[in-house]
Order: sequence, then C-alpha cells, then structure tokens
Amino acid sequence: MNLLIPSSLGRKNLSNGRPPRRPTDVLIIGGGASGLFCARAAAQAGLSVIVLERTASPGRKLSISGGGKANFSNRQITPQDYLCHGDPNFCQPALATYTPAMILEEMRQWHLPVEERSHGQLFLTVPARRLTQILMADCRKLGCLIFCNNAVDGIRQKHGSFEVCSGDVRWQARSVVLACGSPAWPQAGGSGAGYRLAQRLGHELVPPRPALTPLCLATSKDGMGFAALAGISLPVRISLEAGSGLDRGWEDDLLFTHDGISGPASLKASLFWQEGMAVLLDFLPQQQVAALLDSPDAGRHTARSLLARLLPQRLVDCLLPEAVARRKLAELSRKQRTIIADAVHRCRIVPQGRGGLKKAEVCAGGVNTDAIEPATMQSRLIPGLYVIGELLDVTGLLGGYNLHWAWASAWAAARHLASAKATAIFNGSSL
Ligand SMILES: Cc1cc2nc3c(=O)[nH]c(=O)nc-3n(C[C@H](O)[C@H](O)[C@H](O)COP(=O)(O)OP(=O)(O)OC[C@H]3O[C@@H](n4cnc5c(N)ncnc54)[C@H](O)[C@@H]3O)c2cc1C
Repeated sequence: MNLLIPSSLGRKNLSNGRPPRRPTDVLIIGGGASGLFCARAAAQAGLSVIVLERTASPGRKLSISGGGKANFSNRQITPQDYLCHGDPNFCQPALATYTPAMILEEMRQWHLPVEERSHGQLFLTVPARRLTQILMADCRKLGCLIFCNNAVDGIRQKHGSFEVCSGDVRWQARSVVLACGSPAWPQAGGSGAGYRLAQRLGHELVPPRPALTPLCLATSKDGMGFAALAGISLPVRISLEAGSGLDRGWEDDLLFTHDGISGPASLKASLFWQEGMAVLLDFLPQQQVAALLDSPDAGRHTARSLLARLLPQRLVDCLLPEAVARRKLAELSRKQRTIIADAVHRCRIVPQGRGGLKKAEVCAGGVNTDAIEPATMQSRLIPGLYVIGELLDVTGLLGGYNLHWAWASAWAAARHLASAKATAIFNGSSL
C-alpha cells in the first residue's frame, strides 16, 4: 500500500499505513479529477478526508488531458453541452453553482497560466500534471490522507456509517463518495470498477459506451472511398441527420484517418451518434457553392478545378461524380449544379461504428441520475453515499466540459457534506 503522507501529520497518526481507528468524515473512492477536487473542498470545510486510489499515481487522466495541457473548462457552459439519458437538466444546479469563472479564479490563485482557444476552450499553458500536483499538494496541506494502490472492492453500510474494503483492509467512514471515473482510455487506468460498486449498492446503470471517439467508415463504395483521404484535415460543419430526432451540428476540424473520421468535429458528433444514424458533412460551411458555380467567371472552369481552390484536390475528386467533375460549368444543367453543391454541403455518410474504449476520451452512460439528487450528488437510495464525475450518466462534449463536470459535481458533493456535518454537530449526533 502506498501512502502519501500529509505534511501536517506524522507517521504515528497513520498507524503504519493502516486505516485510522476513528471513522473518517468522508472517504473518497478514486483519486482522479473529481475525487481530488472533492477531497480538497471537503477538507477546506473542516472535514476529515481519506482518498483511496486504485493505481500508483492519482490523477492520471487529468495529467494527460487536453493533449497534456488540460482543457479544464469552457467559457460557455450550459446543460445542453451534456448528454444525460434521464433528466436532461440534471447537471443544471451543479453547473449554476460552480461556474467557469470560479475554476478560472482557482487557476489564478494557483498561479497556473491559462489561454482561451477556439470555441471558448480554456487550457493551461503549462503541463497538466502541474494541476494534478497542485491539487494533491493542497489536499496534503489540508490534512487529507491519500492511499494509493488501494482498489476498493466492497462497501457495506454498518450502523449508519460505511465500511469500505480494499483487499483485507477495512476503512470506516460516515460518508462515501464514489469518484471512480469510467473504463474509457484503459491505458491511463480507466476501469469499470465504479459501475460494479454502484450496482452492488442498488444503483442502476445506463449502459456505458465509448464516446468522444473517432467514427469508423467502411472502406468500400458505401464509405465513399474515404480511406484514400487519410491525413486530410479541414474545418467542416458536422451534423446528425434530422430524422434521428436530434438537430445537432458543430463547426470544427475534421481529420480523415485510414479507417474513419476523427478530430474535434467527429468526436463531438460521436457523443450523440447512434448505430445506423447518418452523419452529414458540409465541407464549406462558410460558402455558398451554388452561388459560386453560378458566378459570371465560373462557366469556363470545371467544377473540379474551381472547388480545388477551396478544398484539397483529393477530397474534391472523391466528392464529385465523374459525370460532372471534368466538364465546363457552362455546359452543366441546373440539376447537375445542384448535385455538385449538395456533394460539398450535404455529404451523407453512415458510420459503421465508433472507436473502442482505447480511443475514447470518455464513456457515455453510467450511474443513472434518476437516483441522484442533482444539487448535492447524494444518492436517493443510500443517505451518505455520493456519486460524482464521469461515473455518473453525465457526459460533456469535447471542449473542457467533462473536466468542468468533474469540478462542479465534486463541489456540489463537498458543499453538501460540509453542511450535513454542520447539521449533525448542531444536533449533537456526530463525533
Ligand atoms: C486522453 C484523454 C484526454 C482528455 N482530455 C480532456 C480535456 O482536455 N478536457 C476535458 O474536459 N476532459 C478531458 N478528458 C476527460 C476527463 O479526463 C475525464 O472526464 C475526467 O478525468 C473524469 O474525472 P473523474 O474524477 O470522474 O474520473 P478519473 O479522472 O478517471 O478518476 C477516477 C479515478 O478513480 C480510480 N479508481 C477507479 N476505480 C477505483 C477503485 N475501485 N478503487 C479506488 N480507485 C479507483 C481510478 O484509478 C482513477 O484514478 C480526457 C480524457 C482522456 C482519456
């Protein structure tokens, strides 16, 4: 068992790395983004806190997030940026209470430099692992105990408190926070252990699936020969076909890979995409191709040469039907020009599937929010049990929304834990 000793406590307080004798106020299972943030906030409020982490190093996903620069939040955050299969407004109270301005202020106080990129995305300009280190240092200063290499495999309620098991070690706690994340990106320690713990406590799951992941295309004619486009990256508008009942679309960069489409545009669409659903690509969202084809100078050019001024030639050759591509525009009928404009603005593809867990930044689905209080993250089934972060069925778009959810849900739980303890002290039922 690895123990990170808080600077304020000596080894004698730690009983040789064994659990403290007295029950702790809060035991947090999972030392990732949400777990560490919750630990810090709860300890700031005066609660005793223990974090149990399965791997040897806390915050592994946080440390690699945002290409190593942690896209930690977004300037604009609304519940519509999240997918929740229960109440679509489930995340609203937590998001309203913990805003992007608040995490920006934390970054300022931690002296972590930030930058705003496209679409309001807020990134660090220093390595993301610095954020993990600062969170852990804060936890230590506040007296939290963080035990690594401690995979929790059982939780029991006993006389109004909890007994938590990791191997043959038993931990006593008044409240438990499940912050175990999801099995996405197993290379960084993602696992489904949190789902199993929640299920054993009676919570239902919305079936988890990889999200924020590339979409796979067939290499055959149905896939429109896109394999030949591997390596091309360009801004597009991507949307899901309206018949799906979803009218969602995003303008962002798309990358063709050897087996499908990736890049921010595709990753965003993957969150809402379902099997069999068609994806529409507009390769020139800021242009009107029909007007371009009709312009006075266009007639003496071929569609192929005209569009190659705006798009990569390989893509133009893939999109345009042979019958019209190499003919002068002046020779084409209105119907043929419409076919060309539609090929560029409404390219319809039906992905075969999505990339697996190893390529997914997150999992959609998770602990069903119907049994969770939205303002506090407390279980409606088991008082004193809280579920936060990606383990819940709340999944954000690409752009800093998932880390923001980790902060906001952790904050909501910590605030409630603090007020519950204050109430217990007032009523004389704690300590
Ligand atoms: C490559 C990559 C890049 C990303 N980039 C971004 C980004 O830039 N912006 C963004 O918003 N989101 C990003 N994400 C998503 C974001 O990292 C996660 O949504 C976020 O870390 C979730 O926080 P969490 O605390 O819920 O889970 P995690 O951070 O995954 O933490 C869960 C922790 O629980 C531990 N654990 C699991 N089971 C047990 C157990 N039984 N006992 C003890 N411990 C356990 C795990 O080891 C882990 O440390 C990225 C994800 C990946 C994979």
